[in-house]
Amino acid sequence: MTNLRDKVALVTGASSGIGEATAVALAREGAAVVIAARRVERLRALEERLAGDGARVLSIALDVTDEAACRDAVARTVEVFGGLDVLVNNAGVMLLGPVEGADTTDWTRMVSTNLLGVLFLTHAALPHLVARKGSVVQVSSTAGRVARAGTAVYNATKFGVNAFSEALRQEVTQRGVRVVVVEPGVVETELREHITNQAAKEDITARARAMRQLQAEDVAAAVCYAVTQPDHVSVNEILVRPTDQPW
Ligand code: NDP
Repeated sequence: MTNLRDKVALVTGASSGIGEATAVALAREGAAVVIAARRVERLRALEERLAGDGARVLSIALDVTDEAACRDAVARTVEVFGGLDVLVNNAGVMLLGPVEGADTTDWTRMVSTNLLGVLFLTHAALPHLVARKGSVVQVSSTAGRVARAGTAVYNATKFGVNAFSEALRQEVTQRGVRVVVVEPGVVETELREHITNQAAKEDITARARAMRQLQAEDVAAAVCYAVTQPDHVSVNEILVRPTDQPW
């Protein structure tokens, strides 16, 4: 196992859920962590908590749909901590609902955040990851592996992330960059609270509450597993569902 003591990680969507838990876990492994999201007050609280535990931490206000802001976030990370070893593309929205009659602004938000945001950040980070033989971790989803009625555009974004990541892996793996796709099933976070279609929101909430859901820390542990492997080991894909989730 490789410890993360000399490593620098940038985690998007670190203001809640899986991103927050991942930042905590990476800091615990010794990494300097840059935590990015739009809700700066939540980032500040996390920054204080991590710094109080002795971690090197920096919070950055970031909307991943803004390409210039993504470039700036990577540049600031390198300026403050001297490089970038682990990019965790975690920021995302899941605005479920059927295609027919959908509010297409939900689609724009999902494509811009879940797909374009990942592309912008990966593009900005890649020269630094190549220089340090680093890793890029995409928090995709079981929805990136299995499409279902009622989740078409969310599926499209996560399938897109998976396709992009496999092509990227082939481009950079021989230069030592590891590309990791983590695909969680249902995780107990605030993600579904933002769904605008009431019927879709009630349906996924009821199905989630009927099972023992994954916790954000379970997914953070999967990320940590992947990024603490020896240099010659590339963990390309981790699909992790709650035991109670059959789909
Ligand atoms: P949360 O809603 O808790 O976290 C989502 C994070 O994304 C927040 O920190 C939010 O921060 C950030 N975010 C959203 N939009 C933007 C944006 N435009 N720019 C920057 N940050 C943004 O949910 P989860 O922790 O569950 O979700 C994290 C990832 O995990 C997502 O990609 C999701 O698709 C994926 N996932 C979740 C599953 C689940 O069941 N919960 C299952 C499978 C995958 P802020 O609003 O402050 O910007």
